[in-house]
Amino acid sequence: MNMRKWIHSLALLSVAFGCNGNMEEPVNLVNTLQGSNSVRDFSTGNTYPAVAVPWGMNFWTPQTRENGDGWQYVYTDMKIQGFKQTHQPSPWINDYGCFSIMPQQGEPEYNQQSRAVSFKRENEIATPYSYKVALENGISAEMSATNSGAIFRFGYDGNDDAIVLLDCFPMKGKVAIDIQNNRIYGYSNFRADNNNTVLPDNFATHFIISFDKKISGFGIIQDGKIIENSDNIEGEKVAAFVSFGNQEEVNVRIASSFISLDQAVINYSRELEGKSLEKIKDEARKQWNSELSRIKVTGGTEDEQRTFYTAMYRSMLFPRKIHEYDKDGKQIHYGFFDGNLHDGPMYADNGFWDTFRAVHPLFTILVPSMSSEFMDALLNIYDEGGWLPEWFSPAYKDCMIGQNSVSVITDAMAKGIGSYDKDRMFRAILKCAENEGPNATGRKGAFEYSVHGYVPCDAGIGQSVSRTLEYAYNDFCISEYARMTGQPETLVDKYRNRAFNYRNIFDKDIKFVRPKDSKGIWSDNYSPDMWGPDFTEGSAWHWTWCVFHDPAGLIELMGGRENFIEMMDSVFVAEPTVGLGKRHGMIHEMKEMIAGNMGQYAHGNQPIQHMVYLYNYAGVPYKTQQKIHEITDKLYHSGISDGKGLCGDEDNGQTSAWYVFSALGFYPVCPGTGEYIIGSPMFETSEISLENGKKFTVKARNYSTENIYIQSATLNGKIFDKSFITHDQIMAGGTLEFVMGPEPDKNWAADSRPFSLSESNI
Ligand code: CA
Repeated sequence: MNMRKWIHSLALLSVAFGCNGNMEEPVNLVNTLQGSNSVRDFSTGNTYPAVAVPWGMNFWTPQTRENGDGWQYVYTDMKIQGFKQTHQPSPWINDYGCFSIMPQQGEPEYNQQSRAVSFKRENEIATPYSYKVALENGISAEMSATNSGAIFRFGYDGNDDAIVLLDCFPMKGKVAIDIQNNRIYGYSNFRADNNNTVLPDNFATHFIISFDKKISGFGIIQDGKIIENSDNIEGEKVAAFVSFGNQEEVNVRIASSFISLDQAVINYSRELEGKSLEKIKDEARKQWNSELSRIKVTGGTEDEQRTFYTAMYRSMLFPRKIHEYDKDGKQIHYGFFDGNLHDGPMYADNGFWDTFRAVHPLFTILVPSMSSEFMDALLNIYDEGGWLPEWFSPAYKDCMIGQNSVSVITDAMAKGIGSYDKDRMFRAILKCAENEGPNATGRKGAFEYSVHGYVPCDAGIGQSVSRTLEYAYNDFCISEYARMTGQPETLVDKYRNRAFNYRNIFDKDIKFVRPKDSKGIWSDNYSPDMWGPDFTEGSAWHWTWCVFHDPAGLIELMGGRENFIEMMDSVFVAEPTVGLGKRHGMIHEMKEMIAGNMGQYAHGNQPIQHMVYLYNYAGVPYKTQQKIHEITDKLYHSGISDGKGLCGDEDNGQTSAWYVFSALGFYPVCPGTGEYIIGSPMFETSEISLENGKKFTVKARNYSTENIYIQSATLNGKIFDKSFITHDQIMAGGTLEFVMGPEPDKNWAADSRPFSLSESNI
């Protein structure tokens, strides 16, 4: 397509967007560039415009920075170096199994920076299912994705040799030119070496790349130099180019496999054979529409609708389904822990520290069949690697704290999801609870925690307060799992008792959690605003609220409701000071908290994200309602260039899933209980189509940007005055209708108390 036609089609597209504010296709409301205006020192999302199918095995992204730089597409970079197969869940975790291709003309250029070509913002169209750009050198590129593959269309001016360059990046790789069939075969075993990544020696992404034009020339490249008279190579830093003579268009089909080249060929024939770019684009668009349509919202502003569906898109990327299907359609997967071939499902790219909070609970409502399969994948990981994972990308990563896999497992169990060997799962859970596994899989300080009832700050373990709080919540989940699956009463009680361990690191005199040493003495190396060394990416201002399973117990520790509410309120009005502790400078989460301009409230990181919902436990749900709208107004937008979008790390769906839940009007403060805490809905109607065929609709009568307070509510026509709703009530289908108004009704649900362990009979 020449440049004039290209610009013409862009103009038509923008008309289509402009004249129809209420789009029928939710995918049109997604802005995949939201959150991509991020740098190492300051995140507004740390995202990239992933082109993929929902939970797809491979994602594809335009690449503006060299491979290895976690910020692989940065909105302000106006040069593209290639189009990359990526699996990156976060810039801090980085990538694996990736390679890049780049269209060129005339002479091949290998170096990632030298080959970068400028583009203009108006010549770029990014959607969940495609990415299209006209580069300033006259070459155009468009791509769309299937589960394991992609099709590219490169446009050239036809006046010189059309080239496609393939870059396997550093580490070991292989490329082999099959000139007979106009194909390239090979693999890349690239994996970022941060977070103590351990992958089997035979790990690789095996690819087949097929061209629709005859290869007329080629070159094998190693370490930037062309190898003469060679059509294949295996080694480090390998690359290749193929040329096609003077062409105006070259279509490229790529499929890959983590299992083998043979499996990549099977994936190719299943997903790409005989298909055009338009065909797979249409299929991917339909898949996104089908997933996004699980919730249909009406009302709200256009920006709120765009923000909502963008959040839905981000909630439906990770964890990716990384299993494959053999020639007979049997589900198989590469063993990222042992390097062998196994049957059954496998998922990857998930940090439970982030996603236990809202991402996995959202799946239990929208796609419980997937939550069920995910349980099977967890057991496969346990069988193949010996431990349940906490951060896996694709194998265990030494990252973050806690044993939050048990939150996801117990939440599914509480909701009746999963058919697997419960005793085996319980053995896996106990092993992780009582041992220090490799790469953050078990509990660091498990022994000290069991001896003292907290992780002492002088035991050389680090992040002692945060660990204690998470272990106590994890113990609650273990106790619940044991109770629900009929484990011995002694174990139910043991972990139930340990669930109160959060009390051991709460200093009643100052009403904050505080590090304590092994002799039981409060640490003096402390102030409530000190980030680290005893807190994970936050301070006592953020971590004090992390008693998901017993807010009533926390209220009691603080000296009752009034004090608790005052402490909650003070978070938002306190000076946003940061005690650096032993740190030499501010980390990005600190800067993002200050930029958020909500006092000590730090929504850009996970520990505090549930906190505003705790007002419900103190009988003042109207305060939750007000804060939800303040947070979404200030910190969530669908745009990019104004520096807005997201307010920190998006973190594989968590910060987005928070928005999805909050827009619906409820949030899972304590996964494992089956309760969702009522907030304040943001749309006139939100209709959830459940897998069981029923519909659950949230209505907000009289809702407007001013009318954010719940005046009254009904569930299926009957008065509803609870400040929480249960999973069973949602899955039964029906209508939850709120009547909204501009002033708080301080009585609504004021007597209602969601689950707290110290008030329960379990
Ligand atoms: Ca984070």
